[in-house]
Amino acid sequence: MLTIDGAWGEGGGQILRSSLALAMVRQVPFRIVNIRAKRKRPGLMRQHLAAVSAAAVVSGAEVKGAEVGSQELTFRPGPLRPGQYTFSVGSAGSATLVLQAVLPALMVTQGAWALTLEGGTHNPLAPPFDALAKAFLPLLARMGCAVQTVLERPGFYPAGGGRFTVRLKGGAKLSSLLLLERGETRRREVSALVAGLPKAIAQRELASAARKLKWDAVCFRIEAIQAAHGPGNVVLAEVGSEHLTEIFTGFGEKGRSAEAVAERMADEVLEYLAAQVPVGRHLADQLLLPMALAAGGAFRTLTPTEHTRTQVEVLRLFGCGEVRLVEESATCWRVEVERAAW
Ligand code: ATP
Repeated sequence: MLTIDGAWGEGGGQILRSSLALAMVRQVPFRIVNIRAKRKRPGLMRQHLAAVSAAAVVSGAEVKGAEVGSQELTFRPGPLRPGQYTFSVGSAGSATLVLQAVLPALMVTQGAWALTLEGGTHNPLAPPFDALAKAFLPLLARMGCAVQTVLERPGFYPAGGGRFTVRLKGGAKLSSLLLLERGETRRREVSALVAGLPKAIAQRELASAARKLKWDAVCFRIEAIQAAHGPGNVVLAEVGSEHLTEIFTGFGEKGRSAEAVAERMADEVLEYLAAQVPVGRHLADQLLLPMALAAGGAFRTLTPTEHTRTQVEVLRLFGCGEVRLVEESATCWRVEVERAAW
């Protein structure tokens, strides 16, 4: 049985999710120790537990150690079982991260899948639903796996209560992904979302973002959300280019001004635009697994994060093809992903 050290590299929840995904695809059991060892509160939190149980349900896995706080887990997957499922985090933990744990295996398994995911849809340190729907899934579609997703209700920390659906047919022949250029910019938009909070927060965010980005006034919009279970605020920038769309996010939080939230996000956008690369930091770590399971490929991105380097290591541990990180300049790296040979 494969043993994974959860303290490696980033030392967070991603090692666990990627291990679940690859174990299901490869049909190999694994044991993970030191789960989330580099986090303030190590061990499984509800979001990670929801990912483990989602993976266990779709693969009929035998699992030991799946409890809140557990720092060790054994997962022995069985054959995948296409069908309809609902997975709830049971807190405001990120439901998009639960999807991250199961989607690679669904994508390569013959059959129709319909998932409902409940929990947070716009969480700090996780892909917001918009990044999933506009940036990540269109690239999976380009590899040959069309995934339909619908946001039924946004969920913010701490109330949660968000819900989205995902439908796909797995098992199609997948192709490689080549994303070396961004192409011309076709769309620029900043949306400030407020749920149960004053619109003035959104106005201040947009004003700050506009000062930094210097985009036309028509690029900025406020979305007042009625359906959420609790208050929330997110500011999202969308850069639509010829070859992909990237999403940048600032999360409103207590103790940080609306201006600071929007400025940090705008700085990320400016850094991305200046670097001329197609793939942003977060998308980079998220693309590695599906690309390795499809037919490999290559992309250009910013300096790889610890999350990306950790993904490379997890792929190696599960015997996937090699991933090379090649520095082309101070702000541009080429990532080459070999197709998994099994
Ligand atoms: P932990 O609490 O252990 O840090 P986690 O399970 O919540 O872990 P990470 O291991 O940090 O999460 O992984 C977070 C994932 O969310 C990564 O794939 C990262 O790229 C993605 N992510 C984080 N922030 C964003 C963002 N703003 N936009 C898109 N994706 C994001």
